[in-house]
Amino acid sequence: MLIVQKYGGTSVADLERIASIAKRIIRYREEDNDLVIVVSAMAGETDRLLNLAHSICKFPDERELDVLVSTGEQVVSALLAITLKNMLCDAMSLLGHQARIITDSSHTKARISRIEQDLIVSALNKGKVVVVPGFQGVDEKGNITTLGRGGSDTSAVALAAALNADVCEIYTDVDGVYTADPNICEKARRLDRISFEEMLEMASLGAKVLQIRSVEFAKRYNVPILVKSSFTDGEGTLVCKEVADMERMEVTGVTYNKNESKITVSKVPDKPGIASHIFTALSDAQIVVDVIVQNVSRENFTDITFTVANADGKKAYKLMEEVAGKVGAEKVAIDENIAKVSIVGLGMRSHAGVASKMFSVLAKEGINIEAITTSEIKISCVVEKKYGELAVRALHTAFGLDTGAVEEEK
Ligand code: ASP
Ligand code: MG
Repeated sequence: MLIVQKYGGTSVADLERIASIAKRIIRYREEDNDLVIVVSAMAGETDRLLNLAHSICKFPDERELDVLVSTGEQVVSALLAITLKNMLCDAMSLLGHQARIITDSSHTKARISRIEQDLIVSALNKGKVVVVPGFQGVDEKGNITTLGRGGSDTSAVALAAALNADVCEIYTDVDGVYTADPNICEKARRLDRISFEEMLEMASLGAKVLQIRSVEFAKRYNVPILVKSSFTDGEGTLVCKEVADMERMEVTGVTYNKNESKITVSKVPDKPGIASHIFTALSDAQIVVDVIVQNVSRENFTDITFTVANADGKKAYKLMEEVAGKVGAEKVAIDENIAKVSIVGLGMRSHAGVASKMFSVLAKEGINIEAITTSEIKISCVVEKKYGELAVRALHTAFGLDTGAVEEEK
């Protein structure tokens, strides 16, 4: 088998941990697998490097930032190759430009355009374990680029796709993808499998296990991802194409995000063009809008409510005050005291009444819903922040996701 393994920052945090993953790599090698290993920088290193640059000036040159932050992964690649060779396992590091991971030129958030795998393949054919630093690439002109925070996941999936690997294993500090954040919901369970679509929704709703772009990549090229812990020997979670025999509950996971603010523009004249006015102002300012609700019009006036990331809250509020003045709206209000609770699952497509069940679970807990948004496989409700965690637990129980719930039903 050809396996791509990616090790995250906590898995390579010091020499002892690097030695322990080297032993795991050698085990896989002894079973005759070909291995490409993608590594992150040591935990905290990327932040440390960014802080150094930002202590020089507020907006460091982005080309130079990429030269700087890509070193974190380079150091670990060399240390891992040295460790493997010292354990008598032939290994070789290939940096982004040597492995020919070609990206566009958008420094600090580059996108991979192709990988010319010749050098990697010839090293593999010589029996070497190939170690590649994640997060980095090279543009057509030879400049070093990086793929955005968490980008090593995407490096690994892209390499697995280019090399047609059998599987891409992502080793991290959790032992898989859970039905909810175990820190909030102690009855959360590890999932054996989850589809690409569900993982994409979960990642964009705040589950931090995988970088969203890596899941998009995996879905596009149909690369199965196995998320595992580098500290324990569990089975992990397989992120893969939807299969017919997948355990099909109504809901696969419950997520929670408390980093959004709600903005309401009230008593807006209800006539064509107003929504476009509001949302064009926001998109011109590069502000991403999430949930949008427009009330039914009363006497030709309406209220428009939407949510944005907390980081954009104040800016969006100021913009809305300007827009309100122009279009003749009565007032603008901002509420940071909210949480967004979502349920995700392919099962929603075939089970009726999932939304009404969600709403009645929240009602039973006395939780008021302030806004709702849905997609084919997701329903999100905005609630008061203090009820967010309670909502997660209540939904987790009601949709049969608690530990042991499946067995009990039989
Ligand atoms: N070292 C980079 C980061 O901290 C990339 C990664 O770890 O995936 O964002
Ligand atoms: Mg990471």
